[in-house]
Amino acid sequence: MTFDAVVVGAGPAGSAAALALARAGRSVVMVERGPFPGSKNVYGGVVYGRILDEVIPRWWEEVPVQRWVVRRSTMILTDTQAVTLDLRSQAWGREPYNGMTVLRADFDSWLAGHAVDAGARLLTSTVATGLLRDASGRVCGVRTDRPDGDLRARVVIACDGVNSFLAKEAGLMARADAAHVTLGAKEVLALPAEVIEDRFGLGPHEGLDIEAVGGTSGVAGGGFLYTNRDSLSVGVVVSLEELAASRRRPEELIAGFKAHPAIAPYLKGAFLKEYSAHLIPEGGYSTMPPLAADGLLVAGDAAAMTLAAGIWLEGVNFAIGAGLAAGRAAAEAVAAGDVSTAGLGSYRQALERSFVLRDHKRLRLAPQLVLSDRMQTQYTKVLGDIAEELFTVTNPEPKPGLLRIIWRSLRRHRVRGRDLLRDGLDTARTFR
Ligand SMILES: Cc1cc2nc3c(=O)[nH]c(=O)nc-3n(C[C@H](O)[C@H](O)[C@H](O)COP(=O)(O)OP(=O)(O)OC[C@H]3O[C@@H](n4cnc5c(N)ncnc54)[C@H](O)[C@@H]3O)c2cc1C
Repeated sequence: MTFDAVVVGAGPAGSAAALALARAGRSVVMVERGPFPGSKNVYGGVVYGRILDEVIPRWWEEVPVQRWVVRRSTMILTDTQAVTLDLRSQAWGREPYNGMTVLRADFDSWLAGHAVDAGARLLTSTVATGLLRDASGRVCGVRTDRPDGDLRARVVIACDGVNSFLAKEAGLMARADAAHVTLGAKEVLALPAEVIEDRFGLGPHEGLDIEAVGGTSGVAGGGFLYTNRDSLSVGVVVSLEELAASRRRPEELIAGFKAHPAIAPYLKGAFLKEYSAHLIPEGGYSTMPPLAADGLLVAGDAAAMTLAAGIWLEGVNFAIGAGLAAGRAAAEAVAAGDVSTAGLGSYRQALERSFVLRDHKRLRLAPQLVLSDRMQTQYTKVLGDIAEELFTVTNPEPKPGLLRIIWRSLRRHRVRGRDLLRDGLDTARTFR
C-alpha cells in the first residue's frame, strides 16, 4: 500500500505533521516505536501552547494540563548563593494561558489522538529501521521491524527526535557531535497537591517554573524545577562533553542540584517516582541539517530545533511549529506532483517566516554564550557577590558604593575587561 506520507515518530513534531497532512485530505501513517505516543519521550515539563491556536481552537479546554504556570523564576546559582528573578502573572492563569505543565505520556497521546481523529493512521510498537529509495535514489518510504515490513510513500517526514537515524541515513546529518548536545536528567518526585500549593504560593490549578543557570556541581549547565498536580519535576541539563570529562554520573548532579540550599527546602518530604534521561540538541541554528531531500523532510529535534538559550528551554512548541509546516509543505508537494527537494522547498520558506527559524537565527549565539566557562562560573559568582555585598549591612562602617562593589567583585573573580566587553556585546546582540 502506498501512502501520500509516512511520518516517523509520534512526538509533537510527528503528530503535528500527520495532523496537517490528514486535514489536507492526504493519506498518512505515523510510525512510533513506543507502545503509545509519549511513552518514550522525556522532557522537563512546560509546554507553551500558543502554536496550537491555529489548529485546535480553544485547546486549553481539553488539553491534559497538570497546572497553568503563573510563576516563573530564573535563578543564578553559585555553590552557596542564589540570585532570583521571580515573576508572577495572574494573566497567565487565565484564557488563553501562557505555559502549562503537562506529562508527555498524556500530552503526546492527546496530540496524536487529534491526528488520528483527522484521519491519520498510527502504528505503535513499530520501529522504522531505514529508508526505502526508488531507482533514481529518491526516498519513497521506510523499512520497519514488522514482519510485513515496508511502508511506501510519496514523502517521508523524519520526526524521530535527537540523533535522527533517518536524517543521518539520508546523508543530511553527520555523526552526532557531543559539543552540540546536552544531557537532560530528570526525576519526578511525588508530593501532595496541597503541600505544593502551600509551599510555592499557588492556587489549585496554578503552577511554577524555575529555571536555574549553574547549580550543576561545576559541570556547565543548569537545572529546573516544575510543579505538576501532585508531583514535582526536577532535573539538570548539562554539557555532554563536560559531563564525560568530569567522570560524574548524571544522577550525582541531580542529587547536587536537589541539595542546593535554594532548592532543597522545596523538595522536603517528596519521594522519587520516576527517573529518566535524554539528549537535547542544543547547538541551535548553525547545527541544523538541510531540512529536505528528494522525498524527505526533517522536523523537530531530528533537525536540532530545540531552542536552548539559557533563560528559555523550548522544544515542544518548536517541534509542533515545524511539524505543521512540514505536513503542509508535503501535502502541497504531493498535490503538485513534485516531491523533489525543490518541490518540498515551501517547508523551509514557511519556517523562515515563522518563529521557528526566526528565533533560532536571532539567538544563534546563545547556546555557546550560556554554556561558556565565563558565563557559568565567573559571571555567576560576580553576580552572586555583588548582590550579597549590596545587601550585607556593614554598620558601623558606611555602605560601600555600588561601583566599588562591582569593581571588587570583578577583580576577585579575575574577570578581564576585554572579555566582559566582548561578552556584553554578544549578549546584547543575541538578546536584543
Ligand atoms: C531533560 C529535557 C528537558 C526538556 N524540557 C523541555 C521543556 O520543559 N519544554 C519544552 O518545550 N521542551 C523541552 N525539552 C525539549 C523537548 O523535549 C523536545 O524538543 C521535543 O520533545 C521534540 O519533539 P520531537 O517530536 O521533535 O521529538 P521527540 O519528542 O523526541 O519524539 C520523537 C519520537 O520518535 C520516536 N522514534 C524515534 N526513532 C524512531 C524510529 N526509528 N521508529 C519509530 N519511532 C521512532 C520516539 O519514540 C519519539 O516518540 C526538553 C528535553 C529534555 C531532554
